[in-house]
Amino acid sequence: MRLIIVGPPGAGKGTQGTLLARRLGIPRYSTGDILRQARRDGTSMGLEALRYMDAGELVPDEVILGIVADVLVKEESEDGFLLDGFPRTVVQAEGFRRLLDEMGVELDAIVDLAVDEEEIMQRLAARGRRDDSLDTIRRRLEVHRAQTQPVLDWYANADVRILSVGGVGDVEEIQSDILTRLGL
Ligand code: AMP
Repeated sequence: MRLIIVGPPGAGKGTQGTLLARRLGIPRYSTGDILRQARRDGTSMGLEALRYMDAGELVPDEVILGIVADVLVKEESEDGFLLDGFPRTVVQAEGFRRLLDEMGVELDAIVDLAVDEEEIMQRLAARGRRDDSLDTIRRRLEVHRAQTQPVLDWYANADVRILSVGGVGDVEEIQSDILTRLGL
């Protein structure tokens, strides 16, 4: 299966995406994780990404599309993959579609994890990652509303199956909701 998992920061994309990918036996790629690794490695991409990430802003689309193009050509992605935290802009969604067209494959579904903003603020403030200061959290939520929410509308217009799943509650129950919605 070829899937993406989206949702506001702190919705549990990493947790649910990891469980889902393991269950389906497909690789999971998180653009956020790849960027954090690039920062730790001190690559030029990591250094460029740093100032955007720490400000709660999105890293430029061409950087992100470069990352995704690289993971899609991996042999392990041949039979399916799960992308976590991508696409976050309509430009990324358009670029992604071109990449999939070139590969001659289609997306099976989008899992949209829904969590309200008050819950998100509490979760992220408790998580304490370096881009989790209150100001940055607020900015990331604004960016999500302004730039990432339209991505779902774009996919709805493109007739891609969007599965909206409530992201509050027991981790295993949320996972089983996702599997049910996927018909598994
Ligand atoms: P995440 O771990 O998915 O919350 O991502 C952490 C940060 O990495 C985000 O706040 C962005 O600065 C950056 N990032 C991750 N994925 C993307 C993406 N698809 N587009 C732009 N920036 C991204």
